[in-house]
Amino acid sequence: MHQSVIVAKFGGTSVANISAIENCVNIVRSTPEIRVVVVSAQSGVTNLLVQLAKAAKLQVNSDEVLLKIRSIIDPILIQLDDESLEKEVHAMLFELSQLCQISSRMHNLHICDEILSFGERISARLMVKSLISAGVNARYICSKSLIQSNSHFGQAEPDIVRTKENVLNTLNDLHNTIYVTEGFIAADVEGNTTTLGRGGSDYSAALISEALEAKALQIWTDVAGVYQVDPRVIPSAKVIETLRFNEAAELATFGAKVLHPATLWPAIRQNIRVFVGSTLNPEAGGTWIVPKENQEEVHSIHAVAERKNQTLLTIKSFDMFQTRGFLANIFAILAKHKVSVDLVTTSEVSVALTIDHIGSQSIGQSVITNDLLTELRALGQVEINIEENMSLIAVVGNRLHVTSGISGQLFSSLKEYNIRLFSHGASGHNICLLVNKGDAVEVIQKIYQQFFIQAAEHEKVVI
Ligand code: ADP
Ligand code: ASP
Ligand code: MG
Repeated sequence: MHQSVIVAKFGGTSVANISAIENCVNIVRSTPEIRVVVVSAQSGVTNLLVQLAKAAKLQVNSDEVLLKIRSIIDPILIQLDDESLEKEVHAMLFELSQLCQISSRMHNLHICDEILSFGERISARLMVKSLISAGVNARYICSKSLIQSNSHFGQAEPDIVRTKENVLNTLNDLHNTIYVTEGFIAADVEGNTTTLGRGGSDYSAALISEALEAKALQIWTDVAGVYQVDPRVIPSAKVIETLRFNEAAELATFGAKVLHPATLWPAIRQNIRVFVGSTLNPEAGGTWIVPKENQEEVHSIHAVAERKNQTLLTIKSFDMFQTRGFLANIFAILAKHKVSVDLVTTSEVSVALTIDHIGSQSIGQSVITNDLLTELRALGQVEINIEENMSLIAVVGNRLHVTSGISGQLFSSLKEYNIRLFSHGASGHNICLLVNKGDAVEVIQKIYQQFFIQAAEHEKVVI
């Protein structure tokens, strides 16, 4: 148990160039409890690696993409001015170019994840060197020796028990050393490289914090905390100073990109406080995500999130009428095809489900395959309707299931929009609605206006 250890994760924009990396180094130096540093790839690099991984399908010019990657990495190498580091990184880029020759001819999930891993692998080397140059006793540790996962390439799930063992055995000199490792990357039992889904570095850092029973997990990014709404959508949105575990978990699940959807679960299991702050402005404070207090929570709405790329799958069948097990069969087929369902509504003869259109694979394969549809059609006389390009909007807060009038207010402020699905009551922490992608930003603005601006004005009047 390492109650005094803090795990710090630095995201893509926080390591994007040498001055950003210097900010990270300053944060590490000014917080002696930070003993583990988890890094993302330099901003933009993973998107380029995705193109390389999909080369067989997309007919991309791998050489051009590799040059773009070098245009991000080389300026940092020049600043760090270390011949052996430069050799090491260039050797990695050469290895990457060789893998690209394979990926431009065949699509293979093992190779895809191997290619995707290069961004974090290079970034970790750059961070170690930057820390050492600043007098920090930093040491690189390969995350494949820490996080063990299953072989679900592109969206691997960790083995928590093995990961804990690995972390405790490997990070065994925390008093003297600051360990630097890659986010996003894990290894399956065979030793193949796997990745934890886009944005997965947050999750890696959370898993390491859990294994160490750390005092806190810090997520350093390009915004000064978790905002009421993505500040890119509503620039006037405010930072939420404190969030409870469950609310933050719901926000992450429902698309607040600032946290990978699974980040909060390891922290919740181990009761680890999570801080989200900006490397650009560490003094600005940020959001603390903390355990639930014992006292009764008040009714409140804290945030709105959007989960994009949703597909609405409607299955209609008169065989469903007064028969047993129809829904179970549908879910069994979906589970077999590794399709995870978010929202569900049913009537006597139909069921509507939302699923991530590009859910499971980082490399962007659709989850609704012909095989899946064939199996669903074999259930009987079924009519299947697929509506793509939808967005799931989640209103997140506390005790929403027992707060009167919220649905009414939502519907009245959104009367111009077609809400395809609505879910309220399953959790006290969210109300979800499915809308066309094109309406999403306006819907978020209306909700923000109704529940944050007007409500605040109303409070002022009441006071
Ligand atoms: P990193 O590379 O550091 O992991 P990400 O791009 O993954 O950073 O996440 C940070 C981004 O998340 C912000 O720039 C912001 O646009 C977006 N974001 C979405 N929802 C929220 C929210 N509720 N609060 C803060 N940021 C959000
Ligand atoms: N580099 C990976 C991505 O862009 C993982 C991360 O940044 O968290 O998805
Ligand atoms: Mg991220």
